[in-house]
Amino acid sequence: MIIDCHGHYTTSPREHEAWRAAQIAALKDGTSPPPRPVIADEQIRESIESGQLRIQRERGTDLTIFSPRAAGMGHHLAGADANAHWSQESNDLIHRVCQMFPRNFVGVCQLPQAPGVSPENCIPELRRCVEQLGFIGCNLNPDPSGGYWTGPPLTDRSWYPLYETMVELDVPAMIHVSSSCNPNFHATGAHYINGDTSAFMQLLTADLFADFPALRFIIPHGGGAVPYHWGRYRGLAQDMKRPLLKDYLLKNVFFDTCVYHQPGTDLLAKVIPVENILFASETIGAVQGIDPETGHYYDDTRRYIDAIPWLTPADRQRIYEDNARAVYGRLSNQLNHQLS
Ligand SMILES: [Zn+2]
Repeated sequence: MIIDCHGHYTTSPREHEAWRAAQIAALKDGTSPPPRPVIADEQIRESIESGQLRIQRERGTDLTIFSPRAAGMGHHLAGADANAHWSQESNDLIHRVCQMFPRNFVGVCQLPQAPGVSPENCIPELRRCVEQLGFIGCNLNPDPSGGYWTGPPLTDRSWYPLYETMVELDVPAMIHVSSSCNPNFHATGAHYINGDTSAFMQLLTADLFADFPALRFIIPHGGGAVPYHWGRYRGLAQDMKRPLLKDYLLKNVFFDTCVYHQPGTDLLAKVIPVENILFASETIGAVQGIDPETGHYYDDTRRYIDAIPWLTPADRQRIYEDNARAVYGRLSNQLNHQLS
């Protein structure tokens, strides 16, 4: 089985994002929020069958761990209440996709984070999504300010209540920023990769996993700059008198394979232990074109994993399936439930 641990509903019916725009406009005008959007099952079916499901079939993958559009989370655009409604709308839509296509999608939720608001406020929505909707993880934004990094790092104790709930529910978080409102940082070209890299460095400097040995994070986009600069991070940890990275981070931190060329994927698999790599494509996502050097889609990441000569069949089995089942502790049961 090939499990893609990183997909967003980027093709959601336009009523969905139009509702968010109307909600933001109403907040600005001081008027009452718009009524919930009406989206027909047929619209959802059409968007998935012509989009993500078609690509799954073309590329021979089986299951996508599916979450709301990351850039659409926009935690910096509104306060906690409005973001809570927006998260519910977005997560309910993912739930409908998973109900319609139970073999192909399992849900991961957006959290109603907001700048300056304790992450504790996300616990009710996380519980609702896991306990009632069958979701198996969450996307955690390390910078709800959208590119200005005004909040505390991920190792700050203000995050702890949320982490306690994640551990209790046995769900990991993908550390994933949303859009950027800082014009210095292009969203998917700079802000995403900054977010991945910055989050890893935050984790390196503290003892978060001594407090939460069962907490699990996935760093997407191949871990940002981390694998390429692994020596820098090992060296920084050494200078700070930290233990070896493999001993204090790699039991809890995992990397996806959203690296859109062969040499980068080779490097990821050479530097990061196979146990810590989860297959992903982030399809349909930031990079949608065809690479003229190969004739294949940049985000057809399965080709790169298949082409790494030194990986054994057991290694590929781990990257494609076993690691995802281990990191997303509820995945196997949820899949059985969806197929029963
Ligand atoms: Zn993403």
